[in-house]
Amino acid sequence: MDKLNQVLLKNDIRVGADLDAWLARGGGEGLARALQDPAAIIAEIAQADLRGMGGAGFATHRKWTPVATAPDGDKYIICNGNEDEPGTFKDRFLLENTPHQVIEGALIAAVATRTNHVILYVNPHQPLSLAATRQAVQQWQGHPLLAAIGRMVGGPVALRVVPSSGLYIGGEETAVIASVEGGFPFPRRKPPFPAEQGVHGAPTIVNNTETLAHVPGILRHGAQWYRDLGIGNAAGTKLYSLSGDVLHPGLYELPMGTSLSTLIFQYGGGMLQGKEFKAVFTGGPSNTLLAKHDLDVALDFDSVRQRRSRLGTGAMIVVSEGTSIVRKVAEYVSFFAQGSCGQCPPCKGGTFQLMRLLNRLDTGRGVRADLEALENLCRILPGSGRCGLIDGAVTVVESSVNQFREEYEALLMA
Ligand code: SF4
Repeated sequence: MDKLNQVLLKNDIRVGADLDAWLARGGGEGLARALQDPAAIIAEIAQADLRGMGGAGFATHRKWTPVATAPDGDKYIICNGNEDEPGTFKDRFLLENTPHQVIEGALIAAVATRTNHVILYVNPHQPLSLAATRQAVQQWQGHPLLAAIGRMVGGPVALRVVPSSGLYIGGEETAVIASVEGGFPFPRRKPPFPAEQGVHGAPTIVNNTETLAHVPGILRHGAQWYRDLGIGNAAGTKLYSLSGDVLHPGLYELPMGTSLSTLIFQYGGGMLQGKEFKAVFTGGPSNTLLAKHDLDVALDFDSVRQRRSRLGTGAMIVVSEGTSIVRKVAEYVSFFAQGSCGQCPPCKGGTFQLMRLLNRLDTGRGVRADLEALENLCRILPGSGRCGLIDGAVTVVESSVNQFREEYEALLMA
């Protein structure tokens, strides 16, 4: 645990927003190495198998490469700290407690890709995160290291904080770009991808906060060191936001590939009041539920995908026997319905209908036709929106009906 926690949570150089203290205790070594050999950075990140920690687990170097090879000119790196999903509370911890680690990661990405705009996009509904990030960014202004990066990327680096919209949908990467440009965070269809056409048409990288926080350690200690932190084929560590019906909810940094049962029963202390484990909303409330027979799954992107779910942000919302799955799903779908931006009629209307039907079923006012209508919506809605919100809402509903049908049946009016 000690070795593992040195990466993010109990880092011996995690010193809040004091840049001098950060540098005096070894912070900045990854950046210094990056400045010595910029051409080697992306290969090191690729060898480390660093994945995007905000949802899809996309290989980080594959986002960086097209921006690195784009012609010089304005380019953008955005650290996405919009975090607003139920059960996810990792990025705010990083921004509040170790903002310089996040900024150093973003600056290393800037060196690797010859990028001159670095933006910390932070949720204003998390005022401590915003204040800590602003203070940290202010300390970098005028610092010789920032000037050295400027010389490396062909011009001064504009490092700044942009408060996000604070809306859930504002965390989707094309919505982030729209918001940074000053507009409402409407997602748009891809392609073009941000690397081709991002902020004001310029090549843009949008990386999750946790992803960037891993970068300095990889450059400082090497890709193999990072890979060795994981279990089996999984590389590095992961922040798991553990909540729900567990004895010790909290933020845990564990090897990528730690089993679900180890997280819940060893670190989380098991179930509240000695109840039986029932299920877990994995990677946030928009993925396929994992149930008892999945407790052995390794929590890494590929293993969770093999169980038809997604590791997502690493949020694990645990549900015990005695807690209604239907009610939990109704709550989350209500969140999605309220979060829909309304651009796509099937999403706006579909999430509202899902919410309406779930509320009828949850309150014992539903009939078999409501359950059938719910299932029918799950068949016709996927793929009907510009972004993944509608698909996420459908996935959690469909998964809960498939796995806990008896709960829905028991609520039907005779
Ligand atoms: Fe907006 Fe929903 Fe369309 Fe996404 S799918 S763009 S949230 S209306």
